[in-house]
Amino acid sequence: MTELSRDFYNYSYDELVETLQKDFGLTKFRATQLFEWVYRKGVTDFDLMTNLGRELREQLAASFVFPKARMHDRQVSVDGTRKYLFEVDGGDLVEAVMIKQVSRMTLCVSSQVGCAMACAFCRTGTMGLKRSLSTSEILRQVNGVIEDAKNFGDSFSNIVFMGMGEPLHNFDGVTRAVRNLTNPIGYALSPRKVTVSTSGLVPQIRKLAESKVPVSLAVSLNATTDEVRTQVMPVNKRWPIKELLEAVRQFPDGPRKKVTMEYVMLGGLNDTQDDMKRLVSLMRGLPVKVNLIPYNDNAGLGFKTPAREWVFTWQKHLNDHGIQAFIRWSKGADIAAACGQLATESRQKRAAAPSRLPVLGNEPQAAV
Ligand code: SAH
Ligand code: SF4
Repeated sequence: MTELSRDFYNYSYDELVETLQKDFGLTKFRATQLFEWVYRKGVTDFDLMTNLGRELREQLAASFVFPKARMHDRQVSVDGTRKYLFEVDGGDLVEAVMIKQVSRMTLCVSSQVGCAMACAFCRTGTMGLKRSLSTSEILRQVNGVIEDAKNFGDSFSNIVFMGMGEPLHNFDGVTRAVRNLTNPIGYALSPRKVTVSTSGLVPQIRKLAESKVPVSLAVSLNATTDEVRTQVMPVNKRWPIKELLEAVRQFPDGPRKKVTMEYVMLGGLNDTQDDMKRLVSLMRGLPVKVNLIPYNDNAGLGFKTPAREWVFTWQKHLNDHGIQAFIRWSKGADIAAACGQLATESRQKRAAAPSRLPVLGNEPQAAV
């Protein structure tokens, strides 16, 4: 990165403090002012940062850039869910989804272009991994959605790293983004409202716990036996269920809430009566709640969606045995916006399609 092109969104607060001290001889107070302008007030034009002297403003303007979100496409579902396609550096595309729920909206962002984990039921997994996103590329998805949400008069209250990619396989890029999202002078979201979801990278779960990054954790369990889990999630060969649940048991709660265990129900494969009972024994005594996710068949990967009634039977069984369970019915079915459906076409195909939407302004206003 040259002196002229430092991407502001790639800095955590602590890193900005350090760089301002080292390269500009500035105090910590200046980093605080900059964070407040950019993330709290949504101002990225140094000329408007009136509490900084003119000379300093010019110096900073010559050093920092604020790349805008590049929205390539946006689709709106009949249920109010919106799917965004953002272009990241180098022309790759990633998806973000605004999921409409009863009384809130949740923003689901991508952490990588594609994914290396190759889960059999997930479309992103069929792409393989192209690369991890930078912190700026992650935050630009947030900025782009905040900007566009003005057209709908809404905003999001929660952010989940459940789009394309395995967030803990992009540990630094993701945790730095989380720090800015939860920093009171950043996006100021409660750590309870920012969730990182992992397919079960045990060492990274432990590292996340040790790093004390303020974030909530979700783990995709998706099976109750190693045999079935390995069949659908190759990561299980490396870190089987027992080791994974041990890392979950040790994940500190403190200010963080319970760990969410995600369970994609694949009809006839991992949703038998025996699985239901085994799940209860596996979850017993763990600081968790369970999200049941009926398989989204739109992924077109040959699995079956369980019957609605059967999903309710599972929820009731878990609840009756003292395990909090919720059902995540898919949203945005008409625009293929749900879990596991996110994937982008090849660059060649895409090159033929003109960009339908303009580049957005770069005012990352404080998220609610
Ligand atoms: N890589 C992370 C986060 C992104 S996937 C992870 O795997 O946890 C987010 C969630 O979508 C995961 O719980 C995953 O199991 C689920 N998922 C993937 N494909 C799905 C599909 N076709 N139907 C329903 N859920 C799916
Ligand atoms: Fe990657 Fe998650 Fe999809 Fe598995 S489910 S392939 S970890 S995005």
